[in-house]
Amino acid sequence: MTETQKQVRVDLRRDPSGEPVLHIDATFPVAGPYSLQLPTWRPGRYELGQFAQYICSMEGQLVDGTWEQLQKSDLHRWDIPAGVQRVRWAFHADILNAGSTCVMDDLLYVNPVNCMLYHPDGMDWNYQLSLTDIPSDWMIGTALPKVDGHFIARDVQHLMDSPFMASPKLWHAEYTSHGIPFHLWAYGQQTPEKNRFIADHQRFTDGQIDHFGSFPAPDYHFLYLFPEREVRHGVEHEDSTVIALGPSAKCLTNEGYDELIGIASHELYHAWNVKRIRPAEWMPYDFSRACPSRLGYIAEGVTTYMGDLFLFESGCIDLEQWCRLTEKLLMRHINNPGRLNMSVAESSYDTWLDGYQMGVPGRKGSIYVEGAVLALLCDVRIMQLTGSQYSLQTAMRILWEQYGQDRIGITAEDYWSVLNEVAGAPEALADLREKHAYGCEETWDELAAAMEWQGLKLTQSVDENGLKRVQLSPLKD
Ligand SMILES: [Zn+2]
Repeated sequence: MTETQKQVRVDLRRDPSGEPVLHIDATFPVAGPYSLQLPTWRPGRYELGQFAQYICSMEGQLVDGTWEQLQKSDLHRWDIPAGVQRVRWAFHADILNAGSTCVMDDLLYVNPVNCMLYHPDGMDWNYQLSLTDIPSDWMIGTALPKVDGHFIARDVQHLMDSPFMASPKLWHAEYTSHGIPFHLWAYGQQTPEKNRFIADHQRFTDGQIDHFGSFPAPDYHFLYLFPEREVRHGVEHEDSTVIALGPSAKCLTNEGYDELIGIASHELYHAWNVKRIRPAEWMPYDFSRACPSRLGYIAEGVTTYMGDLFLFESGCIDLEQWCRLTEKLLMRHINNPGRLNMSVAESSYDTWLDGYQMGVPGRKGSIYVEGAVLALLCDVRIMQLTGSQYSLQTAMRILWEQYGQDRIGITAEDYWSVLNEVAGAPEALADLREKHAYGCEETWDELAAAMEWQGLKLTQSVDENGLKRVQLSPLKD
């Protein structure tokens, strides 16, 4: 904190009754009147979150010390009367996924972006968090720095991007890559086999940092939740990620374990791509309103493709396993007629409407699936034009160095011009951009040709239920 920086002091505690309620008490550095805003969405999920539905009460302390219910001026905003500096609220916290806030007897898990208020004119205020009811022997997993027993977020953007979890029994491990400490924290009845888990993290972390040339954060934290209910979810943050997989025994099966490592590699890639190489619409994040972007095919498509590719290139999975992963992806691609109706760029814009649901049949594509297919086509095109000297990853490294490091938001023009430059000609990828990013053309023939160029044979068939199936395997000599 600089000498002139204002500070918000926040006290968080669970309801003593054991009810799933989090009590938050915040003292702001200025007295009312003003208004306080609750985020309306959380980065990583590009739709409105409606977190205010979990706020059960909102009170301000008047000058005479009494508490008064505060009135809203908007669905996600409260008026703070003259003289009021201290505000307290109750947040119902019983959802356990990678982007939620949840309290239990043995867990305090908070994503500040769904429960913390901020002053729209105080975005540079520092936040001091105190976990008042957490015993000193509990373990706490977070990327937030701890100073004199309190966690400190340097400003609102940092606060909203810094989840934390506290429990008497967290599993913890640490490894180092390129001099950067990486932490694994896990909550759950079952946790993955330790040595294998650390070794795989080491592999894909080494591989990704090698290819980007540097890592964006001084340290990094993987926060794993293994609850007893069905869940499969990961959310990226600047210096950490939360990954939820359940029921917990899943992480002991080969299939569940592979899924877990796949999510982990994907989320780490986000530390560069989207947390730093970020669409201009989200730099910085405006939590007060919907912020649609057409660049979801970069944020999620490139990350989906690269996350899996790094598993293969770093030796976490073999070619056979990469082919199975890619078959699954391509099956989702060819069985969705929506990709031929709405481009992946427009589907990205519309994630704010129904991007995380099935939606109307045949309407839209997926930024993850169609975006990853486009990334693959771009990758092969660049390799073809450069004699495999460069690839899509070369372009991502340049985007990291030219935009991400300085936190300059990227536009579609920036992205495509870097890809073209790496490929060696101004219009080298223009057809892919036109047909498959902003158009809705069939991709199959180009996909099969791209696979063949890489020594793989891609075919499709239809099963007895009418579902299209994909087969991908090494070409025979
Ligand atoms: Zn992602």
